[in-house]
Order: sequence, then C-alpha cells, then structure tokens
Amino acid sequence: MAENYDYDLFVIGAGSGGVRAARVSAAYGARVAIAEEYRVGGTCVIRGCVPKKLLVYGAHFAEDLQDARRFGWEVPDCSFNWHTLRDNVLREVTRLEGLYEETLGNNDVEIFHERATVAGPNAVKLASGRTVTAGKILIAVGSWPIIPDVPGAEHGITSNEVFHLEEIPERVVIAGAGYIANEFAGIFHEFGSKVVLVNRTDVILRHYDESVRDRLLQISTTKGIDFKFHAKFQKIEKQEDGSLLISMDNHDPVEADVLLFAVGRKPNTANLGLESAGIELGRDSSIPVDEDNRTSCPSIFAVGDVTNRVQLTPVAIREGQAFADTFFGSKPTRVDYDTIPSAVFSHPPLAGVGLTESEARNKHGAVKTYTSDFRAMKNVLAGRNERSLYKLIVHVDTDEVLGIHMIGPDAPEILQAAAIAVKAKLKKSQFDEVIALHPTMAEELVLMK
Ligand code: NDP
Repeated sequence: MAENYDYDLFVIGAGSGGVRAARVSAAYGARVAIAEEYRVGGTCVIRGCVPKKLLVYGAHFAEDLQDARRFGWEVPDCSFNWHTLRDNVLREVTRLEGLYEETLGNNDVEIFHERATVAGPNAVKLASGRTVTAGKILIAVGSWPIIPDVPGAEHGITSNEVFHLEEIPERVVIAGAGYIANEFAGIFHEFGSKVVLVNRTDVILRHYDESVRDRLLQISTTKGIDFKFHAKFQKIEKQEDGSLLISMDNHDPVEADVLLFAVGRKPNTANLGLESAGIELGRDSSIPVDEDNRTSCPSIFAVGDVTNRVQLTPVAIREGQAFADTFFGSKPTRVDYDTIPSAVFSHPPLAGVGLTESEARNKHGAVKTYTSDFRAMKNVLAGRNERSLYKLIVHVDTDEVLGIHMIGPDAPEILQAAAIAVKAKLKKSQFDEVIALHPTMAEELVLMK
C-alpha cells in the first residue's frame, strides 16, 4: 500500500459503482475516501431506478383498482393524491441514502460531502480548497441527462426534476422514445395525464426485439398515449397562462404543462480536471478505460456511466466490485459484458436477454423463433384486452437459446430467472424437458412449440 499518500484510494462519486468499489476496497484493508457533491446513492437511488420503480408501483394501482371490481371487490371511486406518493417516495430515498452512508461508515470509508476534481495522477482537489493525495483515484461520477439544443429548452425538465413535481400535469410531452420516455409515459398516463411522446425517428426502444417493441407501441397507443414520430423540436415557448407551446417538424404544435426531456444521458465529465492527469475524453465525452477500468493514466480508473460502456446500475456495481477485487483484493477480475439482461418498466413492462431476432439473423443467418402470444389469466377475467408476447430465439444447428424477449405482467421478474438459462447456453430441448409450473405466465417459456 502506498503509505506516502493520504489514502490508498480516493473515489469521486458515491453512486452505485463508486460506493461498491469504496466499500469493498476498504473491507480489503485499503484506506479509502469518497467524495459526493450531491447525495450519497447516486442517480439510481436518488433520482433513477429506485424512485422510478416506486412510481411505477404507485401508478399501477390505477389499473389494479379498476380490475379489482371484476374480482368482486366493491371499490368506490378512488382519487389519487400525488403529494402523498411523492413525499413517501422521497422519504424512502432519504432512508436509503442514510443506509448507503452507514455502510460506507461501517467500512471506515471517509466521506467528503463536496465536489472533488482530479488535480494530477495522484491528487484530488476538494471544493473546500484542500488537496489530498491517493495511490489510486477512481472516477465514478456517472452521467447527466442530455438537453437538446433547441430554443426554449430551459422550459423543459429532465428525470432529475420529475420526482419533485408540485402537481401531476394535465398534459405531458415527453421527448425521446427510450427507457425513461416509455417508463414515464406509462406512469403519467396511469396518473391521468394526457401523454404525447415525441421522437426523432419512428423507433421506440431501439435495442429491444422488434416484436416486443411493436407490442408495447400497440398497447400504449390503444391506452391513449400519443406518439409523434419523425419530429424534431423547432422551439418551445412559454405561454401567458404558464403552459408550453411545443413546435416540431412534420406535426402541428402541441400544448403541454410539462415537457420532459428523455433523449439519453451523457458522461458527467465536464470540468473534472482530467487534463491535469493527461486523460483525453472519448468522442462521446466518456472516459476511455481498458478491461481493468484503467484510464490512460496508470493510477486513475473509471467505472459506471462515465465510461459509457453499458449505462445500467448492475453493470456499474460489477465494475466497482471488479476494480476492488483486482487492485485491493488480489483477485484479478474482469466484467463479462456478454448476455446482460435488461428491462423497461413500462405499462406493461418488457424485458430481454441475449440476441434479438434481427441480431441473431445478422450473426448466424437463419435462426428458429418460438413465440407465445397470450392474454394473462388475470387480464382475461379483468376484461383487459392486453396481450403478452414471449419470444425465444434459437440457433438452428446447436439448439442453443440465443435470446429471450418478453412483454407482459411481471416480465422483468420472470426474465431475471430465465437469463440464467441463456447465460448458461442451455438448449431449447432443455427448456422443453422442464415441466410447466401451472398456472403461471412463465410456464409459456417451457411450452413453446
Ligand atoms: P435512451 O438511450 O434509452 O433513449 C434515448 C431516446 O432519445 C431515443 O429514443 C433516441 O432516439 C432519442 N434521442 C437520442 N438523442 C437525441 C437527440 N439528440 N435529439 C432527439 N432525440 C434523441 O435514453 P434515456 O434518456 O431514456 O435513458 C438514459 C439511459 O439510462 C438509458 O440508456 C439506460 O441505459 C438508462 N436507464 C435504464 C433504465 C432501466 O434499466 N429500466 C431506466 C431508465 C434509464 P432514436 O433511438 O430514435 O435515435
């Protein structure tokens, strides 16, 4: 260990990746400090996955309360109180933030609640003016929502602000058609807002399987969510009554009370002092790293969204863990980026792992596909005309299941387990050998012919 430095490791950014790396490195015996300019927990805990998922649960009651009547419950007309949900969610976020701090403290990680920047290969400058030294520096500062360059963009909000709204808007325009756009389209729609989703192309959730994407588009449209495609923003104007007038190519202007930008996130690398260590950014403003998360400066490392490899929390956590294991635990570890499951918590949710049908065809030529297109039992009794779709992509020669894609109730919960089979390269015949667990939706996975 480098005794002549103040710390063995200084982590900049206390989000998912940074906290994991700091805590595990400290548990291995390293002297560790971490700096966070906002709140410990990072995007996922403070203004991402966690509060979003709680809103998704909250929103789903709109359908559950309706459906309950078909199951015999006499449900009076219910109203929704946004302030109650918002404040409960924000309280939960604060509780989790406390737990993250506690974990760091229990592992003797020193926390600096201030901005830190790189001041050299082994030096970090704190906002308070102090400079500290460390044998290794880990940058885990995450990413930041992109705001398109369009006149009036300052009238829009991002996922940073959406959890703090004073009221649920009557009319919402969402820019983008990726994860955040589709998740919040579902949330706002369930809360009763009129939702318009505006995208520059006509593709939603570009990296998911086409059949599953199409099904979400069809269900969302049927529910009343409006999609405006091939629409580039021209300008956003604030009107006298406070509402927004949003003008775009190829469509009439749309009025809205809230405009949410969800057009991607970019690495949070501005003014980070990287030039003091000779680190040059990639074209996408990311920090380039090698397989061991090492930058071009041998003592400086980076994990998570700031490297723009895969912008997913569990990946950042794996990278943080691998960094700690490799450099402080004497267990050289590299993250395996192959076959990462992912999900979109839309209404209904969708999830996928492995190759999509088009990716599989590009890679292997012909592939076999198996699909199950069904109405979940609960939806049938509820009179909800919403069909689920499960799809298996199988290698023609080896019978290996190359990908699983699904949309329907609890799809992410089911897919997490099914992803083990895809990661293990199991064959379709091995799926067939498993006896169905009846009656479930997941049984479709072993019944596809
Ligand atoms: P996404 O990358 O998912 O989607 C971006 C959307 O914005 C696409 O529809 C894209 O259009 C469009 N777009 C991109 N650039 C521009 C631009 N310059 N002008 C106009 N439109 C543009 O980004 P999100 O913001 O939704 O989410 C950011 C990241 O956060 C995701 O990539 C994901 O990794 C992570 N995330 C994960 C979640 C989960 O795991 N459930 C939930 C939320 C976020 P097109 O494709 O047509 O080019």
